[in-house]
Amino acid sequence: MRRQVWVDIDLGALSDNIGKIKSIVGSSVKILAVLKQSAYGHGIIQVARKLYEEGVDAFGVGGINEAIQLREDGYRGQIILLSIVSKELAAFFIRFGITPTVADLSFARELNREALKIKKVVPVHIKVDTGMGRLGFYPDQIYPFLEKLKKFSWLSLEGLYTHFPAADTNFNFTNRQLNIFRKLIKDLKTKSIDFNYYHSANSLGVVNYPNSYLNMVRPGLILYGIKPSADLRVELKPVLSFKAKIIFIKEILPGKTVGYGREFIAKKKTRVATVSVGYADGYPWALSNCAKVLIKGKIFSIAGRVCMDHIMIDLGQDKEIKKGDVVTLIGKDQDKEVKAEDLASWAQTIPYEIVTRISREIPRYYLNKSTD
Ligand SMILES: *Cc1c(COP(=O)(O)O)cnc(C)c1O
Repeated sequence: MRRQVWVDIDLGALSDNIGKIKSIVGSSVKILAVLKQSAYGHGIIQVARKLYEEGVDAFGVGGINEAIQLREDGYRGQIILLSIVSKELAAFFIRFGITPTVADLSFARELNREALKIKKVVPVHIKVDTGMGRLGFYPDQIYPFLEKLKKFSWLSLEGLYTHFPAADTNFNFTNRQLNIFRKLIKDLKTKSIDFNYYHSANSLGVVNYPNSYLNMVRPGLILYGIKPSADLRVELKPVLSFKAKIIFIKEILPGKTVGYGREFIAKKKTRVATVSVGYADGYPWALSNCAKVLIKGKIFSIAGRVCMDHIMIDLGQDKEIKKGDVVTLIGKDQDKEVKAEDLASWAQTIPYEIVTRISREIPRYYLNKSTD
């Protein structure tokens, strides 16, 4: 039975997007698909199964739990943890065959100790901070660190990577980062230090910086058919739709108000529908008074503020819409479409936040699943 609020995930669209990414980067570049925060709210297991079927080389996750979930689902390929965790968790990397990002010596020491216990070499990726100001060493600290790592014989240097903070807005800065990264790679090579993988490209890198591919790319948002910036020139298919049902309809007379704060005031007689979705479900409060939704192929506006579990929609004089009708909050309805990017712009946030905050408790229904 369908609930009153749900998410549809079109895995066929995911396949099309990964196909697009492959055609952009070419077959010699490996793809590390970023699945953090449960595949940007799409559901990590089904997304991973589909991408595996599509021949994706490796998955990037944000936490140990996500990596373990993939292992428990039977995935045996590479999983790279794109963040760092406390050294107390080092044993998990060995036990579940997860590739860690290494950005400090005490973690490396612990990892080496755990690997030695079962005599299994652990591949690691090292993070370089060329301008993100988040994790990792500065370029000039890399070589001294790698020298120190030499004594940890159970670690093998598999990857070296960096990340872009402003690939959408600052082309020069991003290219400067790339130059720094490339120079580092070259300098290390002259010292006979070579990694299997070098990677820097996020979604924006994939679309706008062909010189950032090196031999591996890390697309996230574009996999899901969403653009990190509005003017990005690439054709993608949105994977996620967010829907809810009308649970009540009433007539409102002129002068009456709708919702908290009484911010919607009826100018004339109007029908108002109550829909079973609210900010607790991940439909942002910031969409109050400004979002549009689709019902039966028509566009309507939100009336007043978003409540915890409800929104109200101004149906105007429309007589056709009934209780039980489906309201599309994100997605297509006939020839109309509301995108995660639209919600982000109305709520003055970024599309990443829109999709990752759709409550995990809302059921996801998968279309075009992988053939198990
Ligand atoms: C999240 C993340 C990505 C993917 O970024 P998108 O903008 O979604 O493509 C790539 N690399 C790292 C290190 C990340 O944390």
